[in-house]
Amino acid sequence: MPTPRNNIQKMDLTLTEEQLAVRDAARDFAQNVLKPGVIARDTEQRFPTDEVKQLGELGFLGMMVDPKYGGGGMDAVSYVLAMEEISKVDASASVVMSVNNSLVCWGLETYGTEEQKQKYLTPLAKGDVIGAFCLSEPEAGSDATSQRTTAIDMGDHYLLNGTKNWITNGGSASTYLVIAQTDADKGHRGINCLIVEKGMEGFVVGAKEDKLGIRGSDTHTLMFQDVKVPKENRIGEDGFGFKFAMKTLGGGRIGIASQALGIASGAYELALAYSQERTAFGKVISKHQAIAFKLADMATEIQAARLLCLKAANLKDQGKEYALASSMAKLFASKVAMEQTVEAVQIHGGYGFVKEYHVERMMRDAKITQIYEGTSEVQKIVISRTLLKD
Ligand SMILES: Cc1cc2nc3c(=O)[nH]c(=O)nc-3n(C[C@H](O)[C@H](O)[C@H](O)COP(=O)(O)OP(=O)(O)OC[C@H]3O[C@@H](n4cnc5c(N)ncnc54)[C@H](O)[C@@H]3O)c2cc1C
Repeated sequence: MPTPRNNIQKMDLTLTEEQLAVRDAARDFAQNVLKPGVIARDTEQRFPTDEVKQLGELGFLGMMVDPKYGGGGMDAVSYVLAMEEISKVDASASVVMSVNNSLVCWGLETYGTEEQKQKYLTPLAKGDVIGAFCLSEPEAGSDATSQRTTAIDMGDHYLLNGTKNWITNGGSASTYLVIAQTDADKGHRGINCLIVEKGMEGFVVGAKEDKLGIRGSDTHTLMFQDVKVPKENRIGEDGFGFKFAMKTLGGGRIGIASQALGIASGAYELALAYSQERTAFGKVISKHQAIAFKLADMATEIQAARLLCLKAANLKDQGKEYALASSMAKLFASKVAMEQTVEAVQIHGGYGFVKEYHVERMMRDAKITQIYEGTSEVQKIVISRTLLKD
């Protein structure tokens, strides 16, 4: 029978030298490269093209991929640390990182064939190109089983028809993982995931969305009309597509939870600094208990969100089941991000309402973390079903 002492190792929350080095490199990049242009990119809805290229060169776009496929071979804990630092400054850049790492590279590496890995994963992991994950449709959001996009089996290829919407990296990606229904009679067991290349005949990228937040990211509708996708571009066995999407989103939620954590901690750090500079009624506002207590709540909730993110990542690194932990991390961290960015604006008073002080952007960016990769309601469905299952 193991004693509590035997379990001490498992509760060790100390970060390794390597993990700290990754965090510091991400922090340097965020503060020195991303921060200077972040307000302009948000205002102009400009994709961070040069910055994403540099993220790739630094190894942040394929962090967990095996080095033999051009990746960084890092663990999921390092990924959380890097996502937090990048998201503290620029959530539009960090969503590119999250989609490429968790939704595209992970799925290809875990379920792709050797040929698919050589051809598609390697350039994605190196950051030479970026990828997109295409599940949502105008009539299939939370209810992702209602796929209207079809991939008809034509023998040596699939004929792809339909529309995907809200696709992150939609205009800037080169490689798209597209979920589509092959056999409607089989329901979600008749869905496949196909690797589609930009430029395939019949594939059209629609207009870019004009968004509330993460305005520097590139969100598009995609149209497929009689696109011929070779059979060898299907991921996994026939009918594996829905399971592929759900497994992939399980890991993706660690990325979005870490993005939410970063948005919250970025706003908190700005609010903390501002509260020690701004004077009202003869003292800095942090000396007013109402403000000091806000800071105490913010720091505590952010730390709880961080621990949930690290817990999910640690389970993944140990090869253990992490879907429940990643849903909990996303549900909680996104709530913290939304609530605490509002508080950060409040601590800044009127200055918080203008772009120059960053926190209004963070408040707008925070909202999406409660919506994409499964809304908060969907996370509660995932969590409660796991808790209640026999
Ligand atoms: C900026 C942005 C980027 C995105 N990027 C991508 C991407 O890269 N790839 C991709 O595939 N998708 C992407 N999405 C789509 C995103 O994942 C969906 O918007 C999300 O899953 C919700 O789907 P929906 O918008 O159709 O809302 P709906 O599913 O219509 O939900 C509307 C509301 O009803 C609630 N609801 C629905 N069903 C239930 C239920 N059973 N019980 C309780 N409440 C329920 C929802 O929680 C929500 O509050 C992105 C979206 C945005 C806005």
